[in-house]
Amino acid sequence: MPAYYLFRVDDLCPTQDRVLWNRLKELFLSLDVKPILSVIPDCRDPHLHLDAPQQDFWEELHRLVSEGWSIGQHGFQHLYLNKNAGLLGITPRSEFAGLSFEAQKDKLLAGKKILEGHGIFTDLFVAPAHSFDRNTLKALTNCGFKRLSDGLALYPFWKENLLWIPQLLWGPVEMPCGLHTICLHPQFMSEECFQKVERFCRQQRNRIFDLEMACSWWMEQRGWKRMLYGALRPPFSPLWRLNRWARR
Ligand SMILES: [Zn+2]
Repeated sequence: MPAYYLFRVDDLCPTQDRVLWNRLKELFLSLDVKPILSVIPDCRDPHLHLDAPQQDFWEELHRLVSEGWSIGQHGFQHLYLNKNAGLLGITPRSEFAGLSFEAQKDKLLAGKKILEGHGIFTDLFVAPAHSFDRNTLKALTNCGFKRLSDGLALYPFWKENLLWIPQLLWGPVEMPCGLHTICLHPQFMSEECFQKVERFCRQQRNRIFDLEMACSWWMEQRGWKRMLYGALRPPFSPLWRLNRWARR
């Protein structure tokens, strides 16, 4: 079973770094790669006020969606309130984990309302800093979300009534197997990083999915294969953590 890939671009908001975002957008358009765009509904994060607000930000998102790109709701305001690393324990800060179910639900709904006010409807959630807890998961299903772009696994899996599409890579890396989401933050991308992404996309073109292709591919897998991949998940997660800790 070869490896498949899916790109995700994080921190989309009207005040993002326009030059780097445009460069990545044009690169993906020219290569016919259709990533997930993680859109912050009401960005208040001062680190993401990198340019004057883009006037046609929401129109541009609609154009990209019509090209087959997907959108995920990236939290609400991208403001970290605490040092809670949540269930995954990847980054010690959170906009959601540690808050009550009601508080989290209110935030999710406020973000969803903003996106829908701009004509953007999505059932995919992307937690800022990978940080969420059981209340977040409960609130997500309560607010109508069906998919989550996160998780420590090689293949997607169902848990707490959500389809988790794992995300473990922050740059293009060739893997032996699995379905891997490669997360990019345009504001941090160097010249070398752009070149790496371009090279990788040209080499792996036939193995790069968009979100819907990835989900259909997963649904088409035979039941026994999905069970086998599910059985690999419990040992994979601690091994991944160990490897990450050893690389520090
Ligand atoms: Zn983010």
